[in-house]
Amino acid sequence: VDDPRQRLAAERADTLARVAALQHDVGVIVGAASSTTGDDEHDPEGSTIGFERAQAQALLDQASAHLAEIDAALARVGEGTYGTCTRCGRPIAPERLDARPEAALCITCAARHS
Ligand SMILES: [Zn+2]
Repeated sequence: VDDPRQRLAAERADTLARVAALQHDVGVIVGAASSTTGDDEHDPEGSTIGFERAQAQALLDQASAHLAEIDAALARVGEGTYGTCTRCGRPIAPERLDARPEAALCITCAARHS
């Protein structure tokens, strides 16, 4: 991994765009829900909107968590601990960092963690 900072910055920009898009989606769904006239309880659309909203919110949470991982990885670059497992302290395999530049755990710890 030559310059993780560049890869992380690119990943961060992508993730920020995704967060913004999902925030927009959630906003649109919430707006649609509140603009439907009254009687939500007996409105079959109401539960669909609730489901869509929950899905969009879950994706938004995922993207936000991903963003936090990227920020943490960038902080580790600054500290000089990037590429080292935050749990066991062993180096993270370059192939893994290639696939997931924000990875904080080595494959062994990640497998144990999940
Ligand atoms: Zn580890």
